[in-house]
Amino acid sequence: MTPVSRRYLAPLFLGPYAENDDALEKILVEFLRDHVYWRRNFHPEDLPPISTFASSSPEYQAFMARMRRELHLLSAALKHSVPFSSPRYIGHMASDLLLPGLIAQMMALPYNPNNVVDEAAPVTVELEIEAGLQLARMLGYATDERRTPCAFGHLTSGGSVANYESLWLLRAVKYFPLAAKAAGARCGDPFELRGRPLAQWDDWSLLNLPLAEALDFRDTCMARLRAMDDVNAAERIAEAIEAERIEALGMVTFCARHPDCPPPVVLAPVTAHYSWEKAMKLLGLGTAQLVRVPARAMRMDPAALDEELSQANWERRPVLCVVGVLGTTEFGTVDPIHRIVAARDRWQAQGLSFGIHVDAAWGGYLASIFRDEDGSFLPREKVRQGFRRFPSPDVYDAFAALGGADSVTIDPHKLGYMPYGAGALVCRDHRAFDFVAQDAPYAFSRPAGETANLRVKFRTLGRYILEGSKPGASAAAVYVTHRTLPLDHRHFGRLQGESVASAEDFYERLRALAAGVADVAKLVVPFEPDSNLICLAVNPNGNVSLARMNEFMERIYGHLRVDRAQPVQTRQFFGSSTRLYRGTLGEAESRRILGELGIDPATFRDAPGDDPNAADSILILRHTLMNPWLDDETNGVNYLALYCDYLAELIRAELPPSRVQLLRQRSA
Ligand SMILES: *Cc1c(COP(=O)(O)O)cnc(C)c1O
Repeated sequence: MTPVSRRYLAPLFLGPYAENDDALEKILVEFLRDHVYWRRNFHPEDLPPISTFASSSPEYQAFMARMRRELHLLSAALKHSVPFSSPRYIGHMASDLLLPGLIAQMMALPYNPNNVVDEAAPVTVELEIEAGLQLARMLGYATDERRTPCAFGHLTSGGSVANYESLWLLRAVKYFPLAAKAAGARCGDPFELRGRPLAQWDDWSLLNLPLAEALDFRDTCMARLRAMDDVNAAERIAEAIEAERIEALGMVTFCARHPDCPPPVVLAPVTAHYSWEKAMKLLGLGTAQLVRVPARAMRMDPAALDEELSQANWERRPVLCVVGVLGTTEFGTVDPIHRIVAARDRWQAQGLSFGIHVDAAWGGYLASIFRDEDGSFLPREKVRQGFRRFPSPDVYDAFAALGGADSVTIDPHKLGYMPYGAGALVCRDHRAFDFVAQDAPYAFSRPAGETANLRVKFRTLGRYILEGSKPGASAAAVYVTHRTLPLDHRHFGRLQGESVASAEDFYERLRALAAGVADVAKLVVPFEPDSNLICLAVNPNGNVSLARMNEFMERIYGHLRVDRAQPVQTRQFFGSSTRLYRGTLGEAESRRILGELGIDPATFRDAPGDDPNAADSILILRHTLMNPWLDDETNGVNYLALYCDYLAELIRAELPPSRVQLLRQRSA
C-alpha cells in the first residue's frame, strides 16, 4: 500500500516542526512594516512625539530592560505550554492553527479594532458580519436579505457565550406577544393576530406561537405604531410593551402576572455541555428547569424527548427551547436534529411550540463536508466517498436538518482551527436580534431602509449582542480563513474530512489493539464514533471491581496527562480523560459497557459509599483526532499506529502485579 500523504495540507499550517516559518516570518515582517507606514502616513507633517534621543535616557533603557526580562521569563514559561500542533497531541479540542487565521489575527492586533461598533472598527465589523453569513450558508440558512427569513451570525468569545445568548434571544422572542397583550390591554388593545384582537388570545396560546409568527408579530406591532397619527400615544404604547416584557419585569413578577405561564423549561440531552447549566443560572431560569433528556449511546433519544414534551404539554409548562448537540464534547456523537425538528413540527401543530438550538460548538464545521461549492447539500453517496462509515444515515439527516433549527452555536476556535477566543452564534432569522436591541424600540423613526439593510443595521453590533467590546482581530482571522479555505467539501471540508478519516482509522486500529492485548486486558470503545472523538476503557483480565479498574485507568492516564511538574518533552503522547456516570448512561448502556469490560455491575453505584470495590463513574480515555498529520506517512511514521503501540506498552506496564509476582516480591 502506498503511504498516506497529505501533501495538499503543506501550506495550511505553521506545522508541527514550524516548517512554514519562512512564509510566516516574511508575511509578518511585511505587514508589520505596512502597519508602521500606515501610522507614519496618517499625518506625516506631525513631528514624532517620541524623540530619536529618547532611547538614550536611563529611564527608557531601564524600562526596555525590565520589559525584556519579563518577556524572557514569559517565553521560558510558555515552553511548558501544551504542544497542540504536534500529532502526538490527541487530548482536548485543540490542534495547530490555520495560517490565514493566525496571520490575519496578528496582523489586525496592532490596529486594535473593537467590534462593538463600526465607529471603533470600520473594517472588521464588516468582516464579522460577512463571516457570520459565511457560517450561516454552510449550516444551511438562507441569507438573501430580500426574503424572510434571512440569517445573521456574529462572533462571541466562545461557544459558552453563544449558548447563553441563544436562550436570551429565544426568551425575548417567545415572550414578546404576552407583553404586547398586557400593554395593549391598558392602551385600547391596538394589536391583532390572525385577524383577532390580542385581548381574545389566551396567554398559553400566545406563548406557543410558532417562532416565525412571533417574529412577524413584532414587525406588525411596530408597523401599527408607526402608522398611528398620534406619535405620543404610539410612543406610550411602545414604552408600555417594554415595561411588560419579561426582561423588564424579571421572571418572578412576570410569572405572577401571567399565572397560566409557569417558568419555562429547557430540554437538553444528558450529554449537553456544562455551559447549559451556567446559562440557566445566568438567565435566572434556574438549573431545576433544565430537563435532561436521556440518550442512547450518547445520542439524544427521540422517544424520550417526546415523553418530556408530552409531560410539559400535560403540565402546561412552557418549553423555551430544545437543545440538540451536534458533536458532543466528550464523544463527538451527533444528536438526531432531524427528529428534534420533526418533533417541533408535530408538537407545534398541537399547540406546544418551542425554539430549537443546535449546540454545534464542536461539530459545526463538519457541515462543510456536506456542502457543495455551489452551496447545495450533497447527496449522501457523494459525502461518503473516502470514509468507511461516515456519515451514518442519522448523522447525514442531522446535518441536513440544521436549517430547521432556530439558532446554532459554532466555534471557529475548535474545528475551525482558529485562535481563541472565537465562537459564533448564528440565527436563522436576523430579526430575533431586534428583540434584545439595547435602545428603545420606539426608535422606529429611523430612516426606512436603514434597518432593512442587514449589513448596515448590525454595524452597531454591540446593541444586539450579549458582549460589549470585542476583538476585531478575531473577525479578521475568521473572515480571512473562510475566504482562503471556503466552507465547502472541496476546501474546508477536505480538512474536516481528514479528521473524521483519522478517527475511523483509529477506531480500526483500536480493534486490532484490543485483540493484541486480549491476553491481559479487555479494551472497550464504549460508543461507536459519529465524528472524530474516540473514548476507550481498559480493564485488566480477572478484575471485576470498577474501583480497581479506575485505579488502573488512572495510572495509564498518568502517562498521558498534562502535568505541570513534568516538562512536556518527557511525554510520548497527550490524551484526555472523562467519566461516565450512571445517570448519563442509563441502565441498559451501563450494563452493556460493564459487561464488555467484565466488571461486576454491583460495583457501579450512584454514590461510591465505603465499598472499596465500588465507584460512581467509569474513568475512560478520551481522544480528539483533529491534528492533520496523525496518519500522514510521509516519513514512514503513522502516529496513530505509534500511539496504539505505546498504549499497549502502557497497558502491560501498568497491570496490577500478579499473585506470583507479589509472592516473588515478598520473598526477595
Ligand atoms: C466546547 C463546547 C462548548 C463551549 O464552548 P467554549 O468555546 O469552550 O466556550 C459548548 N458546547 C459544546 C458541545 C462544546 O463542545
